[in-house]
Amino acid sequence: ELHNAIQELKGNIRVFCRVRPQLGGSKSASQHLQIAENKLNLDYMNEPHGFSFDRIFSESSSQEAVFEEVSGLVQSALDGFKVSIFAYGQTGSGKTYTMQGSPGPGALGLIPRSIQQILRASESMKASGWTWTLKVSFVEVYNEVLRDLLGSDGSQLVHVIKHDDAWGTVVTNLTLMEVSQMEQINKLMETAARARSVGATDMNATSSRSHSIFALYLHGINREQHSELHGALHLVDLAGSERLDKSGSTGERLKETQNINRSLSSLADVFLAKAEGRSHIPFRNSKLTHLMEPCLNGQGKTLMLVTVSPETDHSHETLCSLRFASQVS
Ligand code: ADP
Ligand code: MG
Repeated sequence: ELHNAIQELKGNIRVFCRVRPQLGGSKSASQHLQIAENKLNLDYMNEPHGFSFDRIFSESSSQEAVFEEVSGLVQSALDGFKVSIFAYGQTGSGKTYTMQGSPGPGALGLIPRSIQQILRASESMKASGWTWTLKVSFVEVYNEVLRDLLGSDGSQLVHVIKHDDAWGTVVTNLTLMEVSQMEQINKLMETAARARSVGATDMNATSSRSHSIFALYLHGINREQHSELHGALHLVDLAGSERLDKSGSTGERLKETQNINRSLSSLADVFLAKAEGRSHIPFRNSKLTHLMEPCLNGQGKTLMLVTVSPETDHSHETLCSLRFASQVS
């Protein structure tokens, strides 16, 4: 009963942490990071820092193991919930690997696995009279401007966030692609990857400075039962959380830095306001929080998945990420 009360207090936000394996074949254990069930200790500057999360994935956790823990949340999009999963962490900590994955069956990330689960589940719901339409959009938020990653090349369309009774929020002029088969997803991801690299001199630099939001809109109709459901699943790969130094940057770079800091801090502000039970939640301070409002308000469901790097060189950023994560729920 106490457990239920705590769940109640924590509301509809869960926090997971994932530690990436060491890169470059280095197998040595990270001595400064210790994990025991849902507790994690980080030794930094000769001091222990303890954290606890709803779930912690160690360096050896597979993509499948991570998906298994979120599949219930994915399923609730088919119950009509607005669901979001955010990957938060410094550049190089495994956000994109977790969300998209890399080629090869075992390495598929949350996006393809979620689509697969939803396609299968919606197929099996046909027997009970449900017909589902599944549409996908892929948006980038860069410098507080929305860009359609599935749009036609060179499109100059302006995208505005609007309220919508069924979906909560929608983006104007956005490409929505209907998906009914898994095979369509690869092409869609390639289109998005191409769009992301347009105009970018350094692909990794751009992706670390923008948020990408992969959205699945699920519309279900059951004529026999006269019911209709509008569920959504947003898989968000956030800009790198590393502190960006404003000193020395000027012009476009300064604007970019300020915008990244601002949108990540407005996300933190929303989580903090919710955690403190404040009546006013500042959703409208950034495009990201405005767009995600239906998932972040009382009716939605949100998972914050914090990714951290295991190398001691990154301990300070790791500590910052863990602190952020432990504040939000
Ligand atoms: P981010 O998106 O946070 O900048 P990436 O997802 O691109 O980080 O990860 C950085 C590198 O580490 C990539 O080469 C990626 O393939 C690899 N990587 C990240 N997480 C894992 C993991 N859990 N297992 C294996 N490789 C990983
Ligand atoms: Mg990335």
